[in-house]
Amino acid sequence: MADHEAYDRAVRERLRRVRERIGAAAARSGRGPDAVRVVAVTKGHPHGVVEAALAAGLRDLGENRVEELARKSLRFEGRGIAWHMIGHVQSRKAGGAARLAALIHSVDSLRLAAKLSRRGELDGRRIPVLVQVNASGEATKGGFPAADALDGIGTLAELPGLRVDGLMTMAPFTSSEPALRDTFRRTRLVLEQAAGIDGVEGRELSMGMSNDFEIAIEEGSTMVRLGTTLFGARPA
Ligand SMILES: *Cc1c(COP(=O)(O)O)cnc(C)c1O
Repeated sequence: MADHEAYDRAVRERLRRVRERIGAAAARSGRGPDAVRVVAVTKGHPHGVVEAALAAGLRDLGENRVEELARKSLRFEGRGIAWHMIGHVQSRKAGGAARLAALIHSVDSLRLAAKLSRRGELDGRRIPVLVQVNASGEATKGGFPAADALDGIGTLAELPGLRVDGLMTMAPFTSSEPALRDTFRRTRLVLEQAAGIDGVEGRELSMGMSNDFEIAIEEGSTMVRLGTTLFGARPA
């Protein structure tokens, strides 16, 4: 990035186009453009990319590893960033994730949930989380299988140190629009059913990445996690 001004401009322009597409997809689902929040995924990118995100006005940034989140949140302390933990969190790193992230999207097991809740109780607060749902059924995807997600959500919602703000899902590796749509729709239906559970306080649906965010928004997403479409390919 010899010329960071050119890169900053490019990110700003990509964000402008992405917001247009978000607005159009939100309109197709009967909502306004402000119904969908952009979580800009800076994972795997150097600090210059975080600077470009900030210059473009982005403040919700996503990371998928606790170590990288720790490094970047320290480096950018005081810059008004709300960090989102979007990747699998090992139970032994639950404390770090709880301390550093404004929202943990990827609560994928009761074990992790219990760890986070104990942390929340020690700190005298309720840690905001989303429950990850494996709506595609792919073995490689984490999260509660859609079929018994409601049981899991019910158990999680009783934990005193957590606040369940909604659900997150990852779409399958496919370009099949019906398969993608089905995954997102299934997750929305789980949230609709979970809405009656005590302790489920939010209605957030973290769904959609660079390749599928418009379909996710049409199916009710309130947060899209966008990396490549904003920042280009991640360095190897
Ligand atoms: C990397 C990642 C993203 C962003 O992916 P892009 O395809 O680059 O937009 C979104 N969500 C999660 C959980 C990720 O790990």
